Amino acid sequence: MDSGDGWVVRIRPPGGRLDSAQAQAIADAAEAHGNGVIELTGRANLQLRGVTPASHAPLIEALRPHGLIDADARAEGRRNIIVTPFADAEADRLAAELAEALAASDLALPAKFGFAVDPGATPVLTRDPADIRIEPGPTLRADGATRAAPYRGPGDALALARWFLDQGGAPSGRGRMAALTARLTPPGATLPAALPAAPLRPGPHADGLLVGLEFGQIGPDTLRRLGRLAPLRLTPWRMVLIRGARRLPAIPGLILDPHDPRLRLRACPGAPACPQAQAATRPLARALAPLIPADAVLHVSGCAKGCGWPRAADVTLTATGAGFDLIRHGRAQDPAALRGLHPDQLPKVL
Ligand code: SF4
Repeated sequence: MDSGDGWVVRIRPPGGRLDSAQAQAIADAAEAHGNGVIELTGRANLQLRGVTPASHAPLIEALRPHGLIDADARAEGRRNIIVTPFADAEADRLAAELAEALAASDLALPAKFGFAVDPGATPVLTRDPADIRIEPGPTLRADGATRAAPYRGPGDALALARWFLDQGGAPSGRGRMAALTARLTPPGATLPAALPAAPLRPGPHADGLLVGLEFGQIGPDTLRRLGRLAPLRLTPWRMVLIRGARRLPAIPGLILDPHDPRLRLRACPGAPACPQAQAATRPLARALAPLIPADAVLHVSGCAKGCGWPRAADVTLTATGAGFDLIRHGRAQDPAALRGLHPDQLPKVL
C-alpha cells in the first residue's frame, strides 16, 4: 500500500510466530529497506513503513530465506488466519492444516475475510476480527452466529467459506460473514458457541510474558532484543507474547504495567505519515490518555476511514478539515455527538 511515508509492506508470519532469526531479519529489513517503523496490526501481522519502489524487491529477498514470503500473492491473500498466541501443539496443527488447505483452494474470498484458530479451553480471540472461527471442542462457528458446528478438519472451514460465497455473502467481491449470519443460519450449527473472551493485559500468563506496544509500534532494536530472549508470538491486541519468559531485562519501548493509560489508546499513523490525514493523531491521543478511565478506549482517527480501530470505541475523535468530531460508542465514520472541536477544547470535553 502507498502511504504518506512511502509504501507500507505487510508481513504475515506463519502461525503468528517469530523465531530469533525471523525477528532479527525483520528488524534488519525495516532499517535497511524501510524507515525503521514496524507496526503490529489488529490481525497479528507486522507492517514495515517507508519502503520504496527501489527497496521493495531487496526487502522481499531479505525475508525469503526466513520463511516469511509465500509461494505467491494469491496464496498469501487467502492465508488470513489469526492463531491464539497461547496455541498448544494441537492448535498449531489445526492452524497449519487450515493454512495448507487455504493455499491449495481456489476460493475467491474478499480481501478482509479471515479465520481465527482459537480452540483452547478458554478462547481469547472471540472479540477479534474473523469470519470463520475454530473454537473449543473443536467447533466451527461463522462470525455472528450464536451456534457452532463440530469441526472435523479444514474441509469444514472451506465448506463454510464456500457457503458464504454461494449465499451471496460477497456481492461485488466485498462482504463479511457477520452480515450474512444476521439473516441466515449456517449449516449444521447446533452446538453452543464459545463465551466472549475477557480482554488480556500485559503481564505474566501461563505461556509466558505479554508485553504491550504503544499504538502497536515496535522499534527494530526492541524486536531484535525480544527475539534473542525467546520465541515470540504475535497477538491482535498490540501485545507480543514472549514464550516461556517470566521477567525481562530493561528493554525500552515496552508497556509492562497492566494499568498503563497508553493501553487505552488507538490511533492510526495520522499526519504526516498518511496523505488522507486531516491532523496528527498520536501526540493528541498521548496527551489525552490520562483523562480516559481504565477499561475505556479512546480512538483518535486522522480521517473518517478509521484504519486505526475499525470498531466502536468509548470515545472516537475523528479529524476533519474543521477540527475534531467526537463520537460516543461508535466508529470514526459514525454520527458525531459534537463537531468541529479544537484540540484545546478536548481535555475539558472529555
Ligand atoms: S484513518 Fe485516514 S488518516 Fe488514518 S491511516 Fe486511515 S486513511 Fe490515513
